[in-house]
Amino acid sequence: MKEIILCKYGEIVLKGTNRPHFEAMLSRELKGRAKRHGGFNVHTAQSTVFIEPLDEFSDIDGMFESCLSVFGIVAAVKACVCEKTPEAIYDAVREYLPEKLEGVRTFKVEAKRSDKRFPMTSPEISREVGGVILDTVRGIKVDLHEPEVTVRVEVREEYAYVHAGQAKAAGGIPVGSSGRGLLLLSGGIDSPVAGYMMAKRGMSVQLLHYDSFPYTSERAREKVMELARIISPYTCTRQACVISLTKIQETIRDNCDEDYFTLLLRRFMMRIAEMYAKDANCGALITGESLGQVASQTTEAITVTNNIVTMPVFRPCIGLDKEEIVTVARKIGSFETSIQPFEDCCTVFTPRHPRTRPELAKLLAEEAKLDFEALAKEAFDNREYIKLF
Ligand code: ATP
Ligand code: MG
Repeated sequence: MKEIILCKYGEIVLKGTNRPHFEAMLSRELKGRAKRHGGFNVHTAQSTVFIEPLDEFSDIDGMFESCLSVFGIVAAVKACVCEKTPEAIYDAVREYLPEKLEGVRTFKVEAKRSDKRFPMTSPEISREVGGVILDTVRGIKVDLHEPEVTVRVEVREEYAYVHAGQAKAAGGIPVGSSGRGLLLLSGGIDSPVAGYMMAKRGMSVQLLHYDSFPYTSERAREKVMELARIISPYTCTRQACVISLTKIQETIRDNCDEDYFTLLLRRFMMRIAEMYAKDANCGALITGESLGQVASQTTEAITVTNNIVTMPVFRPCIGLDKEEIVTVARKIGSFETSIQPFEDCCTVFTPRHPRTRPELAKLLAEEAKLDFEALAKEAFDNREYIKLF
């Protein structure tokens, strides 16, 4: 009995003439993961990716788990492959399904026949297979309306496939199909979620973290790298860039009006991010800002921190409540790490009265006290790269 993985795609089927481009991205990502799980043959047909183990060293459970975080796939299931005859299908049902249906009380069968030469119609297949299951699995009942598990039989071009309990996958569109974006990643709750959301819409997410050593610790940096690892199954990121803002922050502290510290710093963060984004071939910046959440996230504050860059800045959390952001953070597994209490560069030298309605002229006057471009360039030139794996 041969078991394979079937992945169904979602939005890609709507892509018309661009569809092969999206399929190629998806296939490339799955092939990369297949290598890490011991080797699989990956091929695409009829809106489905077929992932077949090469030999006994192929870790099908590990690969299956991995498929669930690949954007572009809406559902995945492990399936038994059999010859396209009614008898072979019934045998597969008897041999393969009892373990999958252990402890299950109700089921229904859905059959799909893309090969119309097969001698039974889909309703006939469903009825017969249902009968075989009732004979084989003790205590199970049919429930056509709210079954605990749906068993599916697919009669396709070459073979038939039998499976039960399809899992919901990540949805979205393949990473890379929407170009590259640079995520400003902090140790908070919002920015890992923002990276996840943009990767879901096909962005290949590069990472930039700012620290302020020795005001921020080595552990604080390690926490951010851990967050980067946690979101990496979705974002497919393998390294992060870290830039120190220490000198910039000390210079601001020594020269500027305290009320403007945060906004001045945020303008540096945006400007340096844009320098790095251009260097790393990214077409957009991504932040975890959410409107009104803190003083630097009012419309007025965002206006003055945004206008130092020309690249689009994507803020996928902008309209989400904290609670909604937390729900996503829990789903992707970043929440518990995000809430560990470590300092961030933004919490170093924070003003007592940060400006929520900054005056641009006053801000620019404060900024003019510094050699903005030279400080930004120096910070950028001293960037470091950290391998995540
Ligand atoms: P988060 O929960 O993502 O930290 P926040 O609500 O704490 O967000 P801010 O600290 O104002 O808000 O940061 C707003 C955004 O700026 C973050 O979502 C992130 O994209 C970026 N950012 C903040 N701190 C850093 C940092 N140390 N390195 C890189 N980007 C940062
Ligand atoms: Mg933060």
